[in-house]
Amino acid sequence: MLEALKQEVFEANLKLVEYGLVILTWGNVSAVTPDRRLVVIKPSGVPYESMRPEQMVVSDLEGRVVEGELRPSSDLLTHLELYRSFPSVNAIVHTHSRHATALAQAEQELPCYGTTHADTFYGGVPCTRHLTAQEVEEDYERSTGLVIAETFQGRDPAAVPGVLVCKHGPFAWGATCQKAVENALILEETAHIALLTKIFNPSAPPAPQYLLDKHYFRKHGAGAYYGQA
Ligand code: 13P
Repeated sequence: MLEALKQEVFEANLKLVEYGLVILTWGNVSAVTPDRRLVVIKPSGVPYESMRPEQMVVSDLEGRVVEGELRPSSDLLTHLELYRSFPSVNAIVHTHSRHATALAQAEQELPCYGTTHADTFYGGVPCTRHLTAQEVEEDYERSTGLVIAETFQGRDPAAVPGVLVCKHGPFAWGATCQKAVENALILEETAHIALLTKIFNPSAPPAPQYLLDKHYFRKHGAGAYYGQA
């Protein structure tokens, strides 16, 4: 079942390696079906070099495996919470990419320092609160999804398609697998550039709102004019 989506999710997982966003078996990509009843996700702990499309695991929204020989990604329940909370999101990526993870460990949001950031993220990329000991002990992966949803109360996940989970690392998302992987790549790159910005000028302020507006809306929304018609 869902062979085309399995292939898409498989290829998106390999892109994480190609883009240098993961090492070893770190990271995962999933996608939800258009009716939002099933999710395809990579299997847990399988080396990317030997992973095959048919090993992708199909789960329902409750985390029950519907098809697949292997155990699903350990982060499945986080992905499921995000599909429940963010109806515009069809694909989710988690990595431990270096600079975004360092920022998450530093418990810092990623401010919008310039147009590289503003082209994709309409403002800062938030960092979640800490999970409590109880949340970690009782339902760690689901709580991770819930704390991301809590962080996005009053924010649009389509306008800021990523988050830093405190002491953990980045999650990114999008309308397609390709977009979600791109957003994970851009989150890593902008975190790296932000670090260099702060080294060059420790008191560098965020970009002004009018510049953020110009760059974000040049690429997004009804008045967008970037790229080809
Ligand atoms: P999985 O192989 O179980 O997806 O784990 C990867 C990872 O990065 C966990 O945070």
